[in-house]
Amino acid sequence: MDPARRGSRGPLPAGDHKDIIIPLVDCLFCRIVRREIPAQIVHEDEQALVFKDITPQAPTHLLVVPKRHLGSLSASTDGDIALLGHLQRVACRLAEGAALSSFRLVMNNGKGAGQSVDHLHYHLLAGRPMAWPPG
Ligand code: AMP
Ligand code: ZN
Repeated sequence: MDPARRGSRGPLPAGDHKDIIIPLVDCLFCRIVRREIPAQIVHEDEQALVFKDITPQAPTHLLVVPKRHLGSLSASTDGDIALLGHLQRVACRLAEGAALSSFRLVMNNGKGAGQSVDHLHYHLLAGRPMAWPPG
């Protein structure tokens, strides 16, 4: 493996290569989490990263993502319940902090529902009237 892709861990000692697996997922949002692609980050904690959507669909349009790669809600398990709750609470706290009394929290799951990036994310949308049903 290219040493640059091992991050700060540096070269592996000779002989250890077979025993160590470092997961490195090459998806867009994982790359933003690793700061390989720039983004306008507005919140970070141990489990979550929040950044501005590059093509905003509302005056406020944030993406709330887990730092750990998770492809979609369908790919989640009961072991991810606390993480999913955390992401929702982070979104809620950011909305409160921006004095947004109304907001929409959306997660597209699967291509047919409009998911284009295969790394689970909530869209936090606010600042304009929201129609229902969504398109
Ligand atoms: P979805 O279509 O539900 O998977 O949402 C993916 C979102 O990611 C879209 O709203 C895109 O505008 C947004 N997006 C794509 N690339 C970037 C990027 N480099 N930085 C920020 N947002 C992005
Ligand atoms: Zn990812």
